[in-house]
Amino acid sequence: MGRTLGLIADRVDAASHECEVAVNEVLSPGLRRLVLRSPELAGLTTDPCDVTAFRVSRTDFRHYTPALLDQVGGGSAEVTIVVQRHAGDVAHDVPTPGHDLVEGLAVGADVRLCQWSSTRAFHWTTEERPVLLLGDATVISLALAMERRARSEGRDLMTVLEAPPPDVDAARALLPEAVVVPADGEPGAATDAWLATNLVALCALGRQGAGEPVAYLAGHGPSIQRQRAFLREHVGLDRRSVRTQPYWAPGKAGL
Ligand SMILES: Cc1cc2nc3c(=O)[nH]c(=O)nc-3n(C[C@H](O)[C@H](O)[C@H](O)COP(=O)(O)OP(=O)(O)OC[C@H]3O[C@@H](n4cnc5c(N)ncnc54)[C@H](O)[C@@H]3O)c2cc1C
Repeated sequence: MGRTLGLIADRVDAASHECEVAVNEVLSPGLRRLVLRSPELAGLTTDPCDVTAFRVSRTDFRHYTPALLDQVGGGSAEVTIVVQRHAGDVAHDVPTPGHDLVEGLAVGADVRLCQWSSTRAFHWTTEERPVLLLGDATVISLALAMERRARSEGRDLMTVLEAPPPDVDAARALLPEAVVVPADGEPGAATDAWLATNLVALCALGRQGAGEPVAYLAGHGPSIQRQRAFLREHVGLDRRSVRTQPYWAPGKAGL
C-alpha cells in the first residue's frame, strides 16, 4: 500500500486512529523512538509482524511496525515505534516524506495512524518453533515485538540486527538479548559475515527437539535475498520456514 488510489487512501485514512504524540525522542544519530497515545488504541492488541502506516500525501503511505502496545491510565493506550533516521538517496536528492513526517512530529501534535495487520506471507507463527530474526536498523521495532511475544510464550528467539556504528549502543540498549553487529560497507555485509562465522550456532537452533526454526528476514531487500539463500543452502532450512518482508530497497520509494 505504499501508493494507492485517492479514494482507497481516503477510506484507509477514515479508519485510522487519531493519536497524540507522547514521545518523539532521538536515541542516537540514526534512531528515534516515537510513542503515540490514544483512547482509540485502548483494548487493541498487536502481533509481531503487524504493520501500520502514516499517510504522507493524497495517495502515498509509509509503513512502520508497532513495536510495543501498552495500556496506560485514563482509558488510553500507547504504541511505540522505533524509526531509523535514514539519509535516503542523497546523491539524487529524492524526497523522504515518511522520514520527514516522523522527524517533524512535535510532542502534543495530532497524527493519524493506520490500523495494523499482518500479511499471510509474513505473520507470527503460532507453531511452537524457535524463531530466528535477521534485519537492520529499520527492524528494531519488529525485534522488540518479537522479543516480548517470544518471552511471554516461552519460545527461543535469536535476533541478529545490523546497525550503523553510531547506533549500535542504542540498539543494544533497546534489545539487550539481541546480537547487534556494526554495519561495515554495503548493507547486509556485516550480517553475511556474522552468519558465515556462526554457522554452528545457527544449525544448532531447534536441535533440542523444538523443531526446525522459523526464520524472519526483514529490512534491506537485496540483503534478504542473500540471507534466504544462505539459510537454505548452509543451514538447511526448508523454503516454507523462511519468511521475508523487504522494508526498503535502494532507489525505491515507500515499499
Ligand atoms: C512492512 C514494513 C514495516 C516497516 N517498519 C519500519 C519501522 O518500524 N521502522 C523504520 O524505521 N522503518 C520501517 N520500515 C521502512 C520504511 O517504511 C522505509 O524506510 C520507507 O522507505 C521510509 O519512507 P521515506 O518516505 O522516508 O523514504 P522513501 O520515499 O520510501 O524512499 C526515498 C529514498 O530513501 C531510500 N530509503 C528508504 N528507507 C531507507 C533506509 N532505511 N535506509 C537507507 N535508504 C532508505 C529509498 O531507497 C529511496 O531511495 C518498514 C517498511 C515496511 C514495508
